[in-house]
Amino acid sequence: MKYVDEYRDPDAAQKYIKAIHKAVTRPWTIMEVCGGQTHAIARFGIQDLLPDEVELVHGPGCPVCVTPLEMIDKALNIAARNDVIFCSFGDMLRVPGSQTDLLSVRAEGGDIRIVYTPLDAVKIAVDNPDKQIVFFAVGFETTAPANAMAVHLAKTRGLDNFCVLVSHVLVPPAIAAIMASPKNRVQGFLAAGHVCTVMGTQAYEPLAKKHNTPIVVTGFEPLDILQGIYMCIRQLEDGRAEVENQYHRAVRDDGNVEAQALLNKVFRVIPRKWRGIGEIAESGWALTPEYEAFDAEKRFGLANSEVAEPEECISGLVLQGLKKPVDCPAFGGRCKPDHPLGATMVSGEGACAAYYRYRREKAA
Ligand code: SF4
Repeated sequence: MKYVDEYRDPDAAQKYIKAIHKAVTRPWTIMEVCGGQTHAIARFGIQDLLPDEVELVHGPGCPVCVTPLEMIDKALNIAARNDVIFCSFGDMLRVPGSQTDLLSVRAEGGDIRIVYTPLDAVKIAVDNPDKQIVFFAVGFETTAPANAMAVHLAKTRGLDNFCVLVSHVLVPPAIAAIMASPKNRVQGFLAAGHVCTVMGTQAYEPLAKKHNTPIVVTGFEPLDILQGIYMCIRQLEDGRAEVENQYHRAVRDDGNVEAQALLNKVFRVIPRKWRGIGEIAESGWALTPEYEAFDAEKRFGLANSEVAEPEECISGLVLQGLKKPVDCPAFGGRCKPDHPLGATMVSGEGACAAYYRYRREKAA
């Protein structure tokens, strides 16, 4: 397949693996931030190809995993209403809230529709003026521009039957929180390439400098990840702590300036709770006063609630790189993708789900 096979070429992979083995002189712990990268690492067995000294730990970059239970419960509450058509990306439908999930609400008669872009939800609002159309706006900086565009479009068209349930989170504050933690063991980061396609690389410069930690913006194919690891190890071995861009075929230093302008118009930065981790300062987006009439939480008067995670789940530690999925006693037994106990088994991009799919034999 053009533009995919090139980045899975076994000969080129061997060259990077050899270069990594040659470059490493001591133990290093590197975190890949994005769940897509975690998935590729598990799927292609990348950890097993690295020297014993290099440990990969898995970061918080899985949007489904970090959406708090309370927010899922709010979605379920709205979706069960007779006057609502609830629109979402498909991967949120099977995510359990504290009692049920969106698929079950749909089976009981809720009008819940999978859309491929929030602009489809805007069209549903145009076509159904007697219904309230709610789009579940979750994810990182990658999905936010299209969601911002949908809200802006609804405002421009005067669509008062459209709104969004916002649960956007931001990657750099989460990396900063991991770096600042007294328990942190991550010495270098592979940052998520798609986030930087939107936001650029500049937010990482002060983090790399302040915490003396290399950050390599990295793509998602095996060669991207191997090259990102190699670049990170070269920095660590040289005693450098810089921001480097492995994913230059998609990422510019200043990112997508037009998208950022729209994001700054529609969203403002707020503290957000991350499932399994807790609240991180300045780590989320909410609608600005100009657009808050499109806020589903306000429109439906939803109160905040506290919902406890299952006690035995260590997904918060997995998402911070402090534990591996196989360290959890429930992994593969009481907790599986079809019966997830915690955040990182819920989504296909979660570290526990990736280990379950590709590394069960290794874990056994
Ligand atoms: S295996 Fe399940 S219970 Fe254990 S950390 Fe992962 S999600 Fe939580």
